[in-house]
Amino acid sequence: MTLDEILTRQRHFSNIFFNADALTEQDRENLTKMLSLELHAEVSSLVSAINFKAHRKEKKQPDRDKILYEGIDILRYTMAIMNVWNISSDELITAFNDKDTFLHFRQKIESNEWDGRPVAIIDMDDIVVEFRRYFLDWLRTERGVNIPYSCPEYYATSFSQSMGFNGEQLYKDFISERCLKRIPAVENAIEFTQQLRDMGYWVQLLTARPSENPLCLLDTSHWLMSSGIYFDDVAFSGEKFRWIVQSQFNGKVEFCVDDSPKHAAEFASHGLKTFSPSFSYNQSLRQQTGVIMVENLLEIIDNLKQEKTCHKI
Ligand SMILES: [Mg+2]
Repeated sequence: MTLDEILTRQRHFSNIFFNADALTEQDRENLTKMLSLELHAEVSSLVSAINFKAHRKEKKQPDRDKILYEGIDILRYTMAIMNVWNISSDELITAFNDKDTFLHFRQKIESNEWDGRPVAIIDMDDIVVEFRRYFLDWLRTERGVNIPYSCPEYYATSFSQSMGFNGEQLYKDFISERCLKRIPAVENAIEFTQQLRDMGYWVQLLTARPSENPLCLLDTSHWLMSSGIYFDDVAFSGEKFRWIVQSQFNGKVEFCVDDSPKHAAEFASHGLKTFSPSFSYNQSLRQQTGVIMVENLLEIIDNLKQEKTCHKI
């Protein structure tokens, strides 16, 4: 039996009680509440098939049949909830794969313990991921909003607003359409991160992407697992300097790489060595003491190697 057949069989049974195609939004919410409670009760039934009360002396034989059939009830209630929201088997399979990648990603970073190595704080968008160019291309081809790469704003918010679009909504649409998975890596970014690893740095990616958006989190992890970029850990924060100060890396950061005027200026003004690739939207950083502007990522490697040589002399 395929997943599609399982969903269809469950739908035939659910149709006795409700017609998923004729439900209002409120009906769907109420049914989800009811089915979730019933699902909850089935989880309790499954657990009752084993010894789960640590404080009780009496032991029983685990009931494998019960585990199987209560498991089926759990599966059927889950399928019923999916049917209430008209979620297709294709969507379920895609979501299962997304979660699978994410779980491997999380396991990979959580099993990585920092050993006190010097830390490199590396931004993602427009440092290792070619975000902005891809986003502007998407705006042009998918929304008909034509914004030049040389625009002095990062998201070109006022440009899109003047054309009647909401910049925040466009970014959400970009994420909803699963574009974060498909962005190419920045030229030399793979070599750059691998060289940092070889030079003995802990490569800490730090991005302001909204991890509370589940698709953003899933697609960022998917991208990182398949891009070839080397990294030891990834963190999401809109307040990057505060994140560093509150992290175990405080005082151990050797340098940061960030293209954002806000973050790069904040790092540098607090005495952190900061590199920033030069773009149309971050020219204000040229006036910021402590920010080293570069044309490409490998220039950063040269700078770090030169500094090491100077220290040896
Ligand atoms: Mg960036």
